Amino acid sequence: MKYLVANWKMNQIDFISWQDEFLKNFDNANFKDIKIILCPNSTELAKINDNKIDEFLLGAQDVSRHLDGPFTGQISAKILKNKNVQFCLLGHSEIRAEGETNETVLQKAARLDTEQIEKILCIGESQKVLEKGERNEFLKNQLESFFKSNHKPAFIAYEPIWAIGTGIAANTDSIKDSVDIISKFIKNYFDFSIPILYGGSVSSENIKEIVSITGIEGCLVGNASLDSKEFANIATKI
Ligand code: PEP
Repeated sequence: MKYLVANWKMNQIDFISWQDEFLKNFDNANFKDIKIILCPNSTELAKINDNKIDEFLLGAQDVSRHLDGPFTGQISAKILKNKNVQFCLLGHSEIRAEGETNETVLQKAARLDTEQIEKILCIGESQKVLEKGERNEFLKNQLESFFKSNHKPAFIAYEPIWAIGTGIAANTDSIKDSVDIISKFIKNYFDFSIPILYGGSVSSENIKEIVSITGIEGCLVGNASLDSKEFANIATKI
């Protein structure tokens, strides 16, 4: 089984035509080998939930660390649950860049656990960390902070910040090194593995090579998921 997560970020998608176009370009028989999780903007969750085919799972891009109440602009885990959201991204670098800390990631994880929404934990180093040779320590620190609690994510998405939105994915050696760091770390905590996804400029050109890396079980796709034909190509080639 392979996994694809579409992160539509703050982009408005006409879901009905996106889905039509996707289905025109993707052979239905292949749905048995792939799980696709769509993460739209939160205002679109209900619309997509009402119209999607069963094969698409529904994910959110973020959740509030608060239970409910006066938190303008935020969305609670309970609201997500009521919209049938099954997954939620946690700790995406674009949210960390706005001030999210490892601590707030944990608070959000606890809210998601209460509502039994599966977590997709995003981790990844910056260009600066990479250049300083501190990737190993940085990733371990992000993981350590998450796993010292009892939260268990459904997926770990390794997303090097320097590859996100650039059009140039990390090369296979670099991804392999990170997979190695992550899987060794997980082995210390659990007697089972957690699927690792790669994210950062995935396209129909590079998907095959990326998922051929041992330990990579799917991808998180930003820009390329906005174009449903391109996303269908990615899903076909995975
Ligand atoms: C992302 O933001 O999670 C992402 C992977 O984006 P992109 O595919 O555009 O690099």
